Amino acid sequence: MSSPLSHGIVVGQHGRHCWVQDTQTHERRICHARGKKSQVVVGDRVQWLASEDEGTIEAIEPRRNLLYRSDELRSKNFAANLDQVFIWLAAQPVFSEDQLTRALLACEDAGIRAVIVLNKLDLVSDFATAWRRLSTYRAMGYPVVACSIKAPHDPGFLQLESMLANKCSLVLGPSGSGKSSFTNRVLPKVQAATQEISQALNSGKHTTTSTSWYALRGESAEHGSLIDSPGFQEFGIQHIAPTALAGLMPDIAAHASNCKFYNCTHLHEPGCGVRAALATSADDDAAVFDEKLP
Ligand code: GDP
Ligand code: ZN
Repeated sequence: MSSPLSHGIVVGQHGRHCWVQDTQTHERRICHARGKKSQVVVGDRVQWLASEDEGTIEAIEPRRNLLYRSDELRSKNFAANLDQVFIWLAAQPVFSEDQLTRALLACEDAGIRAVIVLNKLDLVSDFATAWRRLSTYRAMGYPVVACSIKAPHDPGFLQLESMLANKCSLVLGPSGSGKSSFTNRVLPKVQAATQEISQALNSGKHTTTSTSWYALRGESAEHGSLIDSPGFQEFGIQHIAPTALAGLMPDIAAHASNCKFYNCTHLHEPGCGVRAALATSADDDAAVFDEKLP
């Protein structure tokens, strides 16, 4: 006898219930989580049981990874089982470097590749300023993709599109930076859906209010998927121990193995590899700031 349990992927989540897409039929239905503790996240692979026209989540399969933020009081999940995160910034509005750093740390901590995107290449002067602010992150080895999502044959868009293929990607960033413009361009059917929603809500503008998962081609996850998420005010990283932070920063981690003390804070200890490297890095900084625009 075959098991009554079906396999699915969590494609949307709102409060205590979520939308699950069946792996075989691709049918979507509302499912309820059992018990208080079973917190499902968009991107979760689950086993679910049909009940009338809805369903219940019976089990969550082990996650490859989970990206979340946290403050003193609670944590908030972004998504699970990701291959990469696009940290989406723009020439305007001016981005917060503090939020960028926190997002990068959360990605490193979760073991997920981060790609920084800088949109609105057409806003030439602001773009140049923003691009220069990102030079430190390029020097650390983070890929930074320049694009102009509104331009018809934008090479940056094509590059991003090819990076999406066969992967599960989360798009994350401040509002107004062009995330929905990107999603709409990648997935015209999403555009149709959001137009419907904004018409229903009688507002001209689409804003993402909950996290959603979309297949890139067809209905299944096999050709890649895109997860978009609503903006956030604060990116808390209370879940990362202060002593772990340096190890999650590629530029510091590269030299921390040269420190004499394993628990070096890189502030005042003798024999600190990080401070030694810092003392000789002034020349490199000049080279970074001379870097050409894309
Ligand atoms: P989201 O809040 O991050 O989802 O951003 P939206 O996609 O809603 O875009 C915010 C605003 O930026 C809209 O007015 C877009 O038309 C505009 N925008 C998006 N991409 C570009 C771009 O490449 N250049 C310029 N100048 N504006 C853009
Ligand atoms: Zn040190």
